[in-house]
Amino acid sequence: HTDLEQELLAGLNGPQREAVTTTEGPLLILAGPGSGKTRVITHRIAYLVRCRGVRPWHILAVTFTNKAAREMQERLEKLVGLNEAREMYIGTFHAICARVLRAEADLLAPLGLTRSFVILDTDDQAALIKQALRDLDLDEKQYRVSLIHALISRAKNAMLSPYQMAEQARRYTEEVAARVYRRYQQLLRANNSVDFDDLLMLTEQLWRTESEVLERYQQRWQYIHVDEFQDCNVPQYKLIRLLGRGSYERPGGSGNVCVVGDDDQMIYSWRGASAENVQAFERDFPEARIILLEQNYRSTQHILDAAQCVVRRNTARKEKRLWTALGQGEKLIYHEAYNDEAEGLYVADEILKLLARGEVAHRGEIAVMYRTNAQSRALEEQFLRANIPYKVIGSRKFYERKEVKDMLAYLRLLLNPHDDLSLQRIINVPNRKIGPKSLGELQRWAREEQHSLYDALQRSEEHPTLGRAAKNALQQFAQLLEELRASVAELRLPELLDRVAERTGYGPELRASPEGEERWSNILELRRVAEDYAEIETSLALELFLENVALVGGADVAQTGEEGTLLHEEDQDAVTLITLHAAKGLEFPVVFIVGLDEGILPHGRSIDAPEQLEEERRLAYVGFTRAMRRLYLVRARRRSYFGDVVYTEPSRFLADIPPDLFASSPGSGSLRQSSTWERGGRYESYDHDHEDYGSRRVYGGAASRPRRSVPADTTFAPSSADVSSTPAAPRFQPGDRVLHHLFGQGIVLKSELESGSEFVEVQFQGKHGKKRLSLDYARLERL
Ligand code: ATP
Ligand code: MG
Repeated sequence: HTDLEQELLAGLNGPQREAVTTTEGPLLILAGPGSGKTRVITHRIAYLVRCRGVRPWHILAVTFTNKAAREMQERLEKLVGLNEAREMYIGTFHAICARVLRAEADLLAPLGLTRSFVILDTDDQAALIKQALRDLDLDEKQYRVSLIHALISRAKNAMLSPYQMAEQARRYTEEVAARVYRRYQQLLRANNSVDFDDLLMLTEQLWRTESEVLERYQQRWQYIHVDEFQDCNVPQYKLIRLLGRGSYERPGGSGNVCVVGDDDQMIYSWRGASAENVQAFERDFPEARIILLEQNYRSTQHILDAAQCVVRRNTARKEKRLWTALGQGEKLIYHEAYNDEAEGLYVADEILKLLARGEVAHRGEIAVMYRTNAQSRALEEQFLRANIPYKVIGSRKFYERKEVKDMLAYLRLLLNPHDDLSLQRIINVPNRKIGPKSLGELQRWAREEQHSLYDALQRSEEHPTLGRAAKNALQQFAQLLEELRASVAELRLPELLDRVAERTGYGPELRASPEGEERWSNILELRRVAEDYAEIETSLALELFLENVALVGGADVAQTGEEGTLLHEEDQDAVTLITLHAAKGLEFPVVFIVGLDEGILPHGRSIDAPEQLEEERRLAYVGFTRAMRRLYLVRARRRSYFGDVVYTEPSRFLADIPPDLFASSPGSGSLRQSSTWERGGRYESYDHDHEDYGSRRVYGGAASRPRRSVPADTTFAPSSADVSSTPAAPRFQPGDRVLHHLFGQGIVLKSELESGSEFVEVQFQGKHGKKRLSLDYARLERL
């Protein structure tokens, strides 16, 4: 027995041991990142089973994500053995609730739910809200579905019924939302379905009202563990309380509730998480033991210091001590890229170097983190070109995202209407009442008559069996396609994308759905790629654009084996691309955080809202503290935004980090950074350097070239040096066909004169793709 105990406690420090061996009664562990909170939960469970003889099925562990649950399960399999680990219950709140509700389905019958109830995803939820609006004769355009949905979700998370919501409504929209809420619930039940919020609410309601049911679960789960407690919302907290302590009227439960969390890492207040949970826990479990953990085992001191400097600016927080025995470690590396594309290129290059120099053992040790999913596009593109395997966590790869594929299908059709696959894909996207049956008929007919689907569509009027309504819908769609095809001649590529998004109704639909903001930003990101082709004739632009996408997106499919599905995460040694939100709880030896610009991190929405800004700060804190050995902070000086180049400001979080935490090398970015810091802490804008833009790959290793000097013939030049150094006219025009000695044939997309040099952007054939070249160095021939 004592040997077992020794073994389990060996890898723990004093306070951690105390936490593990305090098995009875409530326990609150508040501690910073990397201090072993999750490890304590895992070891505590193993200790309960192996040293205290607790039966595994008495154990419940709640994690924040399914991935975290899987990891904890795997670790426990090693610590207590496979069979025992499988008898424990480890899962997210939603998974646990779904399980409880299915087991108790008989009691849900009065609500109209059966055991086989369906859990709706966000899209389905939006569809139901729309239907509810229609049923109530409310105008979809006047009441944004996303807003209504958010209001309803908020009410549910505050545990309000439609009636209570209506009573508390302060604004007209809230009153409307309460009416929609009521109808929406009816529709949910009519469809034998629940949404995510319902899972929590219904379980809470069940446990609160059916005391025998609650008692059974209290009997079953006698040792309760909650990781990431700071991000619990109200219903989640109530579930814990009911299970561990019963209700006020009917106390019960074992009281063995162990919650661990870090208020500085609370990043889900938009989903109803609140710091008040900690206070509620202290109130509801007044005898709780509180344990603080102060030693960080994950990161080196420089990383911790930087992270703490950022989060310390938040007003409402308890200062925590955090130290590491891992030493100062490396300094942070700051890099300022020329633009968003160069940002991705820098990260890819740096990863190749890390691997080549053996500074990481394998790609799995590296993660790249960003604020919003759309930011993965620029990274993915460079990774694919550099042949760096990667996986995107928590979302599909950019070119596999539905809305991106849909838009591309439209564009392919504009180029080649006989592309049957693309046509099938979008014929009813967004919904234009061309159901699978009509489509099937049309396809069969097309095959019989040996037409393309498009031809069949155009001649659908002659179809022998289709009904009037179907024919009308098909005719309308045929007209829409014709109209869009005609606009290729009159619009530039980015505007063509806009037109497709608007005329098809796809854009408006996305903007109205709850998931829409994210999806819509992916379309805007695609548009950003299209902007590179804005200066050449549109049908050629369309061709080049799609070719480039095929190159980038196609490799994706090859790499993942099957369209839209990732290989099992552990199957491949790949770099991790992940949002800051999804990175919670994880750790990586090397972390890149990109997009440290004002408006990105912190997010633009938060800048005028102090509370949201504090949340952004916590988000940055979570990101920084994922890094074990090396942390890269990266940003871009300019980004394109609706076709305009926007100069960005460095994130205010960078200014919170003392300059001496940054390395003075490697990388010119950090050198510049420290020197400008010394000059009073303000950043300069560096309009005149392009070294970091593809320098290594394009110029073959010339990391710091001398700037070209101003030409001697400046006789007619006005006094401004800027103007005098500019050659009279660019040598190349968009659309020119060119030949490069290394990259082969290509087409010029853009030509710019900047500080005396001509820069051209060329799309080369095949794997080389798009490159930006300086004519001072690149040998380029016109064909
Ligand atoms: P976060 O707040 O980010 O979720 P955490 O507090 O849950 O962090 P863990 O992930 O449990 O921290 O631990 C961080 C790292 O430190 C892990 O790799 C863990 O194995 C290691 N670690 C924790 N405690 C010890 C210890 N006593 N000895 C050695 N390594 C430890
Ligand atoms: Mg953790």
